[in-house]
Amino acid sequence: MALPSILVVDDEPHNFDVIEALLFDKSYNLNYASNGAEAIQSLELIQPDVILLDVMMPGINGIEICRQIKAIEKWRMVPIIIVTALNRKEDLAQCFEAGADDFISKPINKIELRARVNSMLRIKQHYDLLQSSLERQAALEKEKVEASLKESENRYASLASVVPVGIFRLDLDGHCLYVNDHWSYITGMSADESEGLGWLNGIHPEDRLTVARQWYDATKIGTVLLSLECRFLGSKDNTIWVIGQSVLERNEHGQMTGFVGTITDITERKEAQKNLLYNSLHDPLTSLANRTLLIKTLEVAIAKASVSESYQYAVLFLDLDRFKVINDSLGHLFGDQLLQNVAQKLQSHLKPTDLIARIGGDEFVILLEDIAGDEDVLQVVQKILHQFQTSTVINGHEVFITTSIGLVFGNSHYKKANDLIRDADIALYRAKSAGKATYRLFDARMHTQAVNRLNLETQLRKAFERDEFVLHYQPIMDIFKKQLVGFEALVRWQHPTRGLILPSEFIPITEETGMILRLDDWVINESCRQLSDWRNRFPNHFPLKISVNLSVQDLRAANLVSSIESSLSKTGLSGDCITLEITESMLIDNIHKTIDLLNQLREKNIHISIDDFGTGYSSLKYLHLLPADYLKIDRSFVSRMAEENRDYQVVNTIINLSNQLGVAVIAEGIETNQQLKWLEKLGCEFGQGYFFSKPLPASEIEQLLFQFN
Ligand code: C2E
Ligand code: MG
Ligand code: MG
Repeated sequence: MALPSILVVDDEPHNFDVIEALLFDKSYNLNYASNGAEAIQSLELIQPDVILLDVMMPGINGIEICRQIKAIEKWRMVPIIIVTALNRKEDLAQCFEAGADDFISKPINKIELRARVNSMLRIKQHYDLLQSSLERQAALEKEKVEASLKESENRYASLASVVPVGIFRLDLDGHCLYVNDHWSYITGMSADESEGLGWLNGIHPEDRLTVARQWYDATKIGTVLLSLECRFLGSKDNTIWVIGQSVLERNEHGQMTGFVGTITDITERKEAQKNLLYNSLHDPLTSLANRTLLIKTLEVAIAKASVSESYQYAVLFLDLDRFKVINDSLGHLFGDQLLQNVAQKLQSHLKPTDLIARIGGDEFVILLEDIAGDEDVLQVVQKILHQFQTSTVINGHEVFITTSIGLVFGNSHYKKANDLIRDADIALYRAKSAGKATYRLFDARMHTQAVNRLNLETQLRKAFERDEFVLHYQPIMDIFKKQLVGFEALVRWQHPTRGLILPSEFIPITEETGMILRLDDWVINESCRQLSDWRNRFPNHFPLKISVNLSVQDLRAANLVSSIESSLSKTGLSGDCITLEITESMLIDNIHKTIDLLNQLREKNIHISIDDFGTGYSSLKYLHLLPADYLKIDRSFVSRMAEENRDYQVVNTIINLSNQLGVAVIAEGIETNQQLKWLEKLGCEFGQGYFFSKPLPASEIEQLLFQFN
């Protein structure tokens, strides 16, 4: 065992000798330093267990040296014994304050010196023991901590390999330092491929910039949690959507060192969102855009046009002609197939950038963008109309369906998408009225007219409550006997401010709105009431008949027969007092059903007249099947008649035809004596027209009847 090391610091070598002599018994290893600086310098070499320090020295005195040694961490616990001739209490107190552990007075007593040195050595020994046991304990602790760190590292590594999220760590420059297996599974990129800036190559090119920018911002402003959605290219070019979340890492000094984060595969959710979005903007039947998408796209077009004068666009509103008839007769499934077929047809005419939307049953809207001029658009319109002229075969059925088109050119006045659609719709309405299978271009006047029409519709609804409809009666004459045989009841609207309005202005509106059923029901009732009233008051003129006009909707109404019967029974009239006028065009759809209905009416002795004959498309094939009693030659033929001209021949043919079918003929619109003479010559039995009388109110008819009474 090494001897305890003692350092004696004294400027007098003689004093050292004294001490050496006093302690000399080979139990100590004595060392000498003659001043403070030398003492401090030699500490490392000597490793003293006790220091004996003289106070009175030139240069730095012992108290100061004591303070300096005690300030050094390593030597703090080495006991210092002050050797001094001073024995005042203040001096001793100063020594202890400087850190001294003991003192011994000069002249030095051997026994005292040994006792004090040994006592200090024991203290030092205790301290050393304590110190080494503490160090051992610390080493053990350290070992333990390291072991547990290693264990948790292993645990995290295995956790990172099983969690269903991709984990990554990046440094501040975006270099990838670590990825787990699931990262590779999601992104299709191995750890090697992802290393450094490699991971950026795996990101979808369209998202790279966004990711890089957000990344840059996050590092710049020290965003604690960065969260963003982006696409990876995936292993087989199947795009993978991920949500990436990362947190900023800092070292113990609080400096940013990089990011650690996760990526989670959200492709399925994104797909579902995409489908949801698609469905909310498309028509499920045809996959065309729906109204919502149309409105959004129109709004963009309006905005573009407001900033760029060169940008021009047009809106086409299409409505299939007679779609309802096809749908009702061939079934909804067939109707659906037809609509799909139409959607395909329309697409074939348009640029991929043009938008086609289906916004209602058989209503389509097309937005043509970036058009070069009006001609461009008209060409598209013509192409569409032309294509609809050929038939389509669906499920073995050959169908002809045409379309009407309303067209409006976008201009800077348009601020709302709905205004564009409204105006295209107004133009469409015009195209329909013009005979369908055609187009009309919107102009501002149409708008005013459409507004007027809407007002008229509102007023018409009130007209029923206010009892504003009246019937005028036009006499029908037996041409040969020059005798009154009956009247045609013609409705008029006694408008509160505009006066008498003729049916051509309001019947189409009542037909479109369904009000016609109510109107015609009233007409039938009122004409029966009037006829029965006249029969009572002017019995000499009877039998007289009354003719009433029907619309196609009346024919389709389930209660037509019963409601006529009830009007007849209320007024005590028999069926043969009434003749129903239906036009040829009403026969086109559903001819067999119509024939059935007419037969039912016939059974009640009610007569049927085919009105406006010659203007429609009656198929001769069906004419002989029609249970008709009269054909009414249309006014247009009668008015254009001239000796031996074409119209004269048409009238002649109709009269011959009806003779062969056993049907009586009534000529409409006879205005001159000449026309009457020709008709008489051709064998036309009945006639009506201004030549005999205009349609008159009941009161004026009564005056006529009085005259002949
Ligand atoms: P319509 O059944 O062909 O009626 C004949 C039309 O020709 C009537 O026009 C009549 O005033 C007009 N007219 C008669 N003789 C002459 C003539 O010599 N010269 C000229 N220029 N015109 C003549 P109105 O009353 O304006 O009726 C037009 C159409 O309205 C009718 O054509 C009929 O289809 C329809 N209509 C009239 N009343 C009713 C009704 O109560 N119900 C239904 N559903 N339709 C009706
Ligand atoms: Mg008529
Ligand atoms: Mg007519």
